Amino acid sequence: MERWIEEPARRIPVVRDVDVLVVGGGAAGIGAAVGASRAGARTLLVERNGFLGGVATAVMMTTWNVPSRCLGGISRELFEGLLERGGAIDGGPTIPYDPETFKDVAEGACLEAGVELLYYTWMAAPLRDGDTLHGVVVENKSGRQALAARVTVDCSGDADVAAAAGVPCVKGREKDGKMRPLTILFRLGNVDIRRVVEYARTHPEQFTADPNFQILDLDRGLVRISGFFDLVAEARARGELDKDCHYIRFEGVFPDRGTLFVNTTRVYGRDGTSASDLTEGSIEGRRQMDQLLRFLVLKVPGCERAFRIDASSAIGVRETRRIRGEHLLTEEDILAGRAYHDTVVKAWRHHGEGRNWHSPDGAEGAPSDPTYRTMTTGLQSFEIPYGCLVPLEVEGLVAAGRIISQTHEADMWTRGMYCCVMTGQCAGVAAALAARDGVAPRRLSVPALQRELRRQGLDPGPRA
Ligand SMILES: Cc1cc2nc3c(=O)[nH]c(=O)nc-3n(C[C@H](O)[C@H](O)[C@H](O)COP(=O)(O)OP(=O)(O)OC[C@H]3O[C@@H](n4cnc5c(N)ncnc54)[C@H](O)[C@@H]3O)c2cc1C
Repeated sequence: MERWIEEPARRIPVVRDVDVLVVGGGAAGIGAAVGASRAGARTLLVERNGFLGGVATAVMMTTWNVPSRCLGGISRELFEGLLERGGAIDGGPTIPYDPETFKDVAEGACLEAGVELLYYTWMAAPLRDGDTLHGVVVENKSGRQALAARVTVDCSGDADVAAAAGVPCVKGREKDGKMRPLTILFRLGNVDIRRVVEYARTHPEQFTADPNFQILDLDRGLVRISGFFDLVAEARARGELDKDCHYIRFEGVFPDRGTLFVNTTRVYGRDGTSASDLTEGSIEGRRQMDQLLRFLVLKVPGCERAFRIDASSAIGVRETRRIRGEHLLTEEDILAGRAYHDTVVKAWRHHGEGRNWHSPDGAEGAPSDPTYRTMTTGLQSFEIPYGCLVPLEVEGLVAAGRIISQTHEADMWTRGMYCCVMTGQCAGVAAALAARDGVAPRRLSVPALQRELRRQGLDPGPRA
């Protein structure tokens, strides 16, 4: 039987009153806060961690899956900031970067744009009057506080604000609610990258044929490796690796430092909006990491003297809630390259048959999974309309990042970090213009939004 208590009503201080409040400081939140502030809004960003980046730093997911020519606006500036500090490697089909440098660059970009940052702060409840959101209540070391805002941008990755405010949301895959797996990444040091690459070169049949996941360009310092299919199958047969483990992925490789990230643990059937599932998932993820560590040191050439430097401080959540908004982006829209009058982002998808990165059904990397066994050929652009950022039923709110209004299948192409920075920038700018003009984000002039995005270096596509 469920038990309940009544929480007594209490007075809480309104500690800030801003134009734009951004909840969540991941890829989307960084884009939103900088974009809003540059569009003239007094902007506050609240983040539960003590640093920015979300998955990009706390989970140590350190590869953008597009070449640098696909970046625009704030995503390009972040990349250039990383390059300047030696924290990213350019010139390949994907961009590896260093997570600590990302924290510095993202924080610097926010402070330089005039964003006020409030770390160690959890969004706790919406401040809703009728159908309009006026900010949120937060909890932190200072207690329970209200943050008033003309427009709020939900960049929480889980649509925490939208769901609490009453926006219709969908969790997981539409047909059965299943969600993509959780992952703890870990970083190895003292790896002989040359020997790992040599092994991959001499055993090509043991690795993916996809040029985005198998990059062996030591001359330019670009390495990403996915496979070791036979070594993994043998270890699985001996019971040394789990039945769901079919391949090893190395990324975020800095060959001259001998470091790389292992993106291989997969925890299925857990809900990233449930505290107990997150706890169980983290324990399970660390168990898998321990197993993988032993395997790598004993079996993978070049890893004999490797040691674990660190592991992601939070388990990585790929998918939870998505809002339902004015437009619902589907995979069919993306494949058809559909154009919209209110396009705000031009993003990219890889050509390739049967792509489904990180299916909730498991068997990732198995011989039956074309994703890591077949080629992709080139990139095709697609458009994201503003309607995907505008939630149904609630005013005073926009959303960005992996929670935008889209289907489970469409998220494969929009939840990439570079794309989250871009949808974030659009949402932040839209929030700033709506706050300035005193209009609901839903009724914002889209040509004005597109003009400001262009002024900020983000080309939303053909001119209106
Ligand atoms: C394991 C893994 C591997 C991935 N691999 C790749 C890849 O190779 N390349 C790629 O481009 N993308 C990859 N992705 C996808 C990509 O990383 C995410 O889709 C993207 O980072 C999401 O950005 P976001 O800003 O929407 O959310 P997040 O990065 O999740 O940011 C949300 C932020 O909000 C904060 N927050 C959450 N709730 C609250 C709250 N209630 N109050 C206050 N703050 C809150 C969080 O701390 C976090 O900082 C991967 C994702 C995972 C998990």
